[in-house]
Amino acid sequence: MNTPHKGLDITTAKSSRLDQVDFDNLVFGKYYADHMMICDYKDGAWQTPQIMPYGPMEMEPSSKVFHYGQAVFEGMKAFKDADDKVWLFRPEDNFNRINISSKRMAIPEFPKEYFFDALNTLLKLDSEWIKKGDGNSLYIRPFAIGTEYGVSASPSNEYKFIIICCPAKAYYSTPVKVLISDHYSRSADGGVGYAKAAGNYGASFYPTNLAKEKGYQQVIWTDANTHEYLEEAGTMNVFFRIGDKLITAPTSDRILDGVTRKSIIDLAKHEGIDVEVRRIKVGEIVEAAKNGTLKEIFGTGTAATIAQISGFEQDGTFYDLPEVENPYNVKLKKMLQDIQYNRAEDPFDWRYAVETK
Ligand SMILES: *Cc1c(COP(=O)(O)O)cnc(C)c1O
Repeated sequence: MNTPHKGLDITTAKSSRLDQVDFDNLVFGKYYADHMMICDYKDGAWQTPQIMPYGPMEMEPSSKVFHYGQAVFEGMKAFKDADDKVWLFRPEDNFNRINISSKRMAIPEFPKEYFFDALNTLLKLDSEWIKKGDGNSLYIRPFAIGTEYGVSASPSNEYKFIIICCPAKAYYSTPVKVLISDHYSRSADGGVGYAKAAGNYGASFYPTNLAKEKGYQQVIWTDANTHEYLEEAGTMNVFFRIGDKLITAPTSDRILDGVTRKSIIDLAKHEGIDVEVRRIKVGEIVEAAKNGTLKEIFGTGTAATIAQISGFEQDGTFYDLPEVENPYNVKLKKMLQDIQYNRAEDPFDWRYAVETK
């Protein structure tokens, strides 16, 4: 069936692959929802977005993305409430951010109507892929790549903006141990750390593998100049609780402006928690760990929501965090998820209702 719809061309899948998915033993990223959106950029304009069955696509081996890494992405989630209504969480922030990332990578910005029409259409077609219940969601991965062929080192004149979706369950259930990096860096002043550029991830895998060999699941990145300031945890923003104060680094060229990060700051303040957004020295948390005032460390990001960190290694010494009563990370995660799953009031107007009927 080919039907024009709100400016999109829609080709629906002949049959659903939903029954192939083992939702009880879900492996994140293994199964993709029946439909995807592909929109081509050529002749200086984004063409009509195409909704089509998910599947492989052909590309020239010389496509720029393979050689020069012109690629950006987003990560967002759709949630289903008890009445089968589908919600997105602050999707406009993801839309704005992919265009900020695109600009930095010389990729043309994507039109807002196309982004939201595509999301609404995909979630309507594939609403059965969104499961109810705590931790369940449909992870949405929009991305843009340079597709023009030719290995000359220059920005592509052709692009594809693609949206694919995959079912997800709660992620990182057990607390993780992290290694504070004193050598490798994720980003630098004037660099691309604030962009969700694919290469930031590629570049982080090797130092993360080295940390894994030492028994750590993630790296806490420090500033590239001095390695004295704490910046992010793996691919998450990072919060430290010293005493009853919650501290996180300000966003910058080097630190990604996470939607979860800013939501947690607002929720913590709403709860009356003292939040400080300022640079944090490695020495400060080592000191706090030694004198017992370091109560919690956690990462924030769409995939995990909040990932508790139970200890860290710095300069060859491991610091174990004590168990605390009524930890902030548990309380804030619940508050955030209650809003995401439409179980609580939404005083900040963060929820976005998807038209699935
Ligand atoms: C995506 C990402 C985050 C988290 O952003 P959210 O909007 O909360 O998902 C944090 N740090 C990095 C480096 C990221 O790529």
